[in-house]
Order: sequence, then C-alpha cells, then structure tokens
Amino acid sequence: MTDSVKTLCPYCGVGCGLEVSPPASTTHATHRDSQGKPIWKVMGDRSHPSSKGMVCVKGATIMEAVDKDRLLYPMMRESLSDSFRRVSWDEAFDRIVQQIKTVIQTQGADGICMYGSGQFQTEDYYIAQKLLKGCLGTNNFDANSRLCMSSAVAGYIQSFGSDGPPCCYDDLDLTDCAFLIGTNAADCHPIVFNRLHKHIKKDRKAKLIVVDPRTTKTAEASDLHLAIKPGTDIDLLNGIAHLLMLWGKIDTFFIDECTQGFSQYAEIIRHYSPEVVARRCNIPIEHLEQAAKYWAESERVLSLWSMGINQSSEGTAKVRTIINLHLMTANIGKPGAGPFSLTGQPNAMGGREAGGLSHILPGYRSVKNATHRSELEQFWGLKPGQISPNPGRDVWSMITGLERGEVGLLWIAATNPAVSLPDLVRTKSALLQSPLTVYQDAYYPTETTAYAHIILPAAQWSEKTGTMTNSERMVTLSPQFRPRPGEAKADWEIFAEVGRRLGFTQQFQFETSAEVHREFVQLTRNRPCEMTGMSYERLQQEGPLQWPCSETETEPEIETKETGLLSSWFKNKAGQPPGKRLYTHLKFNTPDGRARFAAFHSKGLAEPPDENYPLVLTVGRLYGHWHTQTRTGRIEKITKMHPNPFIEIHPKDAVKVGIQDGELVEVRSRRGSAQFPAMITKAIAPGTVFVPMHWGALWGNNTEANTLTHPEACPISLEPELKACAVQLIPVSSL
Ligand code: SF4
Repeated sequence: MTDSVKTLCPYCGVGCGLEVSPPASTTHATHRDSQGKPIWKVMGDRSHPSSKGMVCVKGATIMEAVDKDRLLYPMMRESLSDSFRRVSWDEAFDRIVQQIKTVIQTQGADGICMYGSGQFQTEDYYIAQKLLKGCLGTNNFDANSRLCMSSAVAGYIQSFGSDGPPCCYDDLDLTDCAFLIGTNAADCHPIVFNRLHKHIKKDRKAKLIVVDPRTTKTAEASDLHLAIKPGTDIDLLNGIAHLLMLWGKIDTFFIDECTQGFSQYAEIIRHYSPEVVARRCNIPIEHLEQAAKYWAESERVLSLWSMGINQSSEGTAKVRTIINLHLMTANIGKPGAGPFSLTGQPNAMGGREAGGLSHILPGYRSVKNATHRSELEQFWGLKPGQISPNPGRDVWSMITGLERGEVGLLWIAATNPAVSLPDLVRTKSALLQSPLTVYQDAYYPTETTAYAHIILPAAQWSEKTGTMTNSERMVTLSPQFRPRPGEAKADWEIFAEVGRRLGFTQQFQFETSAEVHREFVQLTRNRPCEMTGMSYERLQQEGPLQWPCSETETEPEIETKETGLLSSWFKNKAGQPPGKRLYTHLKFNTPDGRARFAAFHSKGLAEPPDENYPLVLTVGRLYGHWHTQTRTGRIEKITKMHPNPFIEIHPKDAVKVGIQDGELVEVRSRRGSAQFPAMITKAIAPGTVFVPMHWGALWGNNTEANTLTHPEACPISLEPELKACAVQLIPVSSL
C-alpha cells in the first residue's frame, strides 16, 4: 500500500480524523521510532468535520506504539502460579467453550461475565453482546464506559427519554457562554478545547466559565474559575438556577410548552440562596453571581462535562441538574447551546448504540423492556424469552460476584482493570479468585495479564476495519491498513468463533466487519440513534457521518400543526435551521414529548474527609498519557513529557503535614496506600490533593492511585465515585 489512509484517532472520545502515510514515503527523522526505524507518518485529517486537521500529541505519536510488546499468539496456563505456554487458537477456543458449557450447567448463564471496552469498534461491541445477551442469555456484558460516562447516559435517558448528546462540535464555535464543569478539557479533550478556546479568544465576547477544584490549564484560560469544594456541584448548579429564577431570566414559554416538573424543581431551588451556596461551595458570593450573570446574559449557553461530574455517587443527579439549567433557560435545540457530555473512550458512544452496557440492548433499547427484547429475539433468530429481563452485572458487581464465588468465567477484553478499577487491593484479590479468566488484548504484558489463565492476541486499531462514534455522534470508518502481527484476530472474530463453536452458527455467519455493521445498523431503524443510512461504502466515499442518519434522508420536520408555534419560537431564538443537533423540533423522546425537570438536593461525597482522613483526593489525567499507559507508556516522547506520577498539595496543607516540595509522601486511605513525590502548588484548593491515575504496577512502584479510591457508586448509573475519597498524608521520611 502506498497511498495515505484516512482514519480515526483511537485514543479519546474527541474522535479526531487522522491521515496516515506508509513508512516508504517517510524520509525524515520525525517519522521514525525511538530506535530510528521508519514508521507511518501521522497528520491531522483536514477534511474530518470534527477535528479539521488538528491532532494532539497522543494521536500524533500513535504509530510509535503499535509494534511494541505485542501479544502474538494465544497462551494458556492451568493456575496463576504457572508460566504461560503457547497454544493454538483451537486449543484456546476449546478450553473457553468447555468452560462456558460447564458454567451454564453448574451455575447458569449468569455465571459468565464479560468486561469490554470503549476501545472496541462498534462491530466488536455488537458481536460480544449478541453472544452474551442474545445467545447465552445473560446480560453480564459491561464495559469500561461504566467508569466513564454511564451517569451521562442515565441523565439523558431520564431527562430526555433517550440517550444521546444533543449537541455538536460546531456549537463550540457558536456559543456565547461555555460552562465547563468537572472537565479539564485542555488536557483530556485537547482538540475540543482548542476549538472552543479559539472561539473564546477571538474577541473575548463569548465567556468561559470553569468549575474545578484545581486551577487546571482549562481554568487558567477562563473568564471565571469557580474552585468549588469537591462534591458541591449540585449546590452550585441549584444556586445558579436560584439566581436566574430570581432575576426572571428563565424562558417560561419553553418551560410551559416543552417540559414537565418545573414547579417541584422551582420549589427546591428556592432554598439555594447565594449565601447558602457560596458557603457550601466555599467560593466568593460574587463568583456565584458572576456565573449566573453570564448565563443570564447569554443567548446560547453550552455546558461541557466529563468525569468530574459522571464519576460520582450522585452522578446522574448532577447530570440532570446541569440539564435543568438548560431547560429553564431554553438552551437546547439551537446552535451554540445545550448540555454536552464529553466521552472518554474513543468509542464509548458506539458502545451505547450497540448495547455495550449491562442494562441496554442495541439501538438504544433496554433489557427491561419486553418489546425491545422480543424485537431482538426475532431479529437474531432466537427463541422467545432467550434474552434475560434483568440487567446484568456492572463491572463492580462482577468483582463482588467473584468474591462470592458466583462467577465461573470472567472474560476481559481491551481494558486493564488491574489499574483502572477502584479499590485495587480488593479488586486484585477478587481477580485472584476467578476460576477462569480470559484476557484479550493487543499488548503483553499489562497489569491484568497477571490474573489471566488464557490470553488471546487481539488485532488493534489499524489492523482491523470497523466504525467508531465520537462525542458528537459522528461515525468514522477506521480501515485496516497494516497487517496483523502473529496470530492476532479482531475482537469480533474471536467472539463470533466462540459463538459458532457453541452451536450458534446461524447467528454468527459473518465473514467481514462490513457484514456485521450491515446487520447492526438494521437494529437502529426508527430508533433515536438511527444509522441505516451509514453503509461502509457511504462512509468511505463521503467520509464521517453523524447520526441520526436514515436510508431515506428526510429533512427534519419543522412546521406542523403540532410544532408550528414552537418552530417559530425556535426560528426567532436561534435563527438557524436544525440539522446537526437533536431536539431541534423541541420535541423530546419521552412519551409526551416533554423533557423532564428533576429536583435534587446534594448529598455530598460518599466518603467525606474527617479527623483521620482530613483531605479529599481527586484523581485525573495528564495531557500526554492515555488511561493505564498500555500504549502511551511505550512512547518515548510521552514518557519524557510525563516521567513520574506526583501528588499536588496546597502549601497550607503541606505546612500542616510538614512536607517539602519534591519529598516522597505516603498517601493513605481506608483501603490502601501509595507513595508519590510532592508537588506543592497553589493550583489545588486547600483541603484537596490530586494524583494522576495512569501509573499501574508495570510503570511505577506503589504509585497506583486506585489503591486509594472506593467503589461507592451512583445508585442509578452504577458509576463509581473514582473522583473523590478521603486520605491522610505522611512524609515517608517520618515512617
Ligand atoms: Fe486523539 Fe483525542 Fe488527541 Fe484527538 S484529542 S488526537 S482523538 S487523543
């Protein structure tokens, strides 16, 4: 192959387009790996509508990791104390199939669990959950998106009647006020932030509000930084709503015509006076008032959030409280406005569409809905009642299931739970109790290989063809352009082969990923995430496409008897036709078409600081690294950029504990301890400390942030509160 290839960056949910050229055309040193070997050259794809040619350091250096430490063939061992031995695919498949049959006979299908990943392409997701939920009859398929954005999913479903971020990246260029809460987009979604920042900087007319206990790069670029006390997001949001209501800056027409539940909500927010809120959030009252003023003065407000909101024991309530502000001010369904969750993984959105969490089915269907189950059973050629009506195990429930001996087979693919799950001491101890763990990944070793009995080599991005959906619902075809190393197979091929060997030949007759995709999109017909108009051929010819996208593309209906009034309201307010946004008709996916307000008081942190553990630890990400460093830890430029983990401590807290800058500090929580060099900085609020989460046992010694975190989760989304736990600090020199 000599031509360049257009594809998608496989790191984060921004979903930037890449253009890669083969090594033969590469002549200068910037396109060589650290050993001087020529590698594929990566450029931003200027024609990609989401990123317009921009790319961050992760995307730019991706080719340096693709050939390092690859798992080349299946390996197996009887017990975790044995060494792995190379086996054939046949032997590995036989062992897995035998275990599935044994578990079904002895424990039932619910003894089988699979934990997948937003690194999957949509085709991988689709086949994995068809195998588990359809053929085996257990909904125990969950993905690492549970740790990332399941609160956003739950919030959208409850407020709008279905999942789906209603905005698009063009809104970044059109907003009057960007309200960023619980997201350090400059580091974690850099190309989204670049685009927004360019717009804000242009004439400084548009305002940028950042809510974060840390003075991040994102906060430094803001017009207003609200460094709230961790866990007080709902107080702040209700406080802004209180002022908007007090000042009469709400849209009563929109509230009356398009929503339900405002009066109960109004009753709740009456209690959030500026004095109360400023005290709870520990911010100056003027900052709260200024934030509300920016909201009030802006025709178009765009809220962006990610894990700082989602990873919370009240994550769904936080998401819905953000949405409340948009509903009361009619900041939705028009350009430059809306509640916009940013996804972490590159294809977390694809997982949502394909049924990639334990409570959902493909096409935004629910396992609890009998009609949805029946539609799938018929489509897949299964007997009635084959799909279980019960939500399956979320990932933490898989861990507790292992502890109780209820899991007979754990299959992990494209994720590294021995670093990324909370309460790692408990997580690892549970993994040790698994009767049989299959681990499927592109790289070897990772921290999780230590807990596997069978490891399967997976083809990764660039070695298989499939689709991914980014945060703005943009679907990009990501073609195979390099050969697979060793005996690696695409994830979906592995799942399909196991399905066939279990006797489901009719259900897994696929030869190519295009066939898988063709089947999957049929299940989106007339669903909110309709993709029937997206064939591989069309994606190849026209480039990325945004859903909804049906075969029969009709212009969105604007004027009808029913919506005529709203439509003229919309035109007056927004002045632009709908197209790339959801809810432009101001009709939501609830049975009565109205969005729902929700009234919440804040409960605060699940584990607040106390006398023994007086500080709040918050964990997060650095610009160059991706999650558990499976790829970025193998890229010299990035490891030089971020050589070591650290702990950010405010000078006041450092004095209290007697810690000097650079000194090694032991951080203890109720669950474990870890050690980091101190970085004493006013960038973190007093009472809070920050540690990056990227370092697992492979990359550091006793530097795992998740040894400290706890698994308490939002009761609705089941997303754990990875963002906050109570800790104490001790200088290592005094131990
Ligand atoms: Fe890749 Fe995300 Fe960077 Fe874009 S912003 S290049 S998708 S890591």
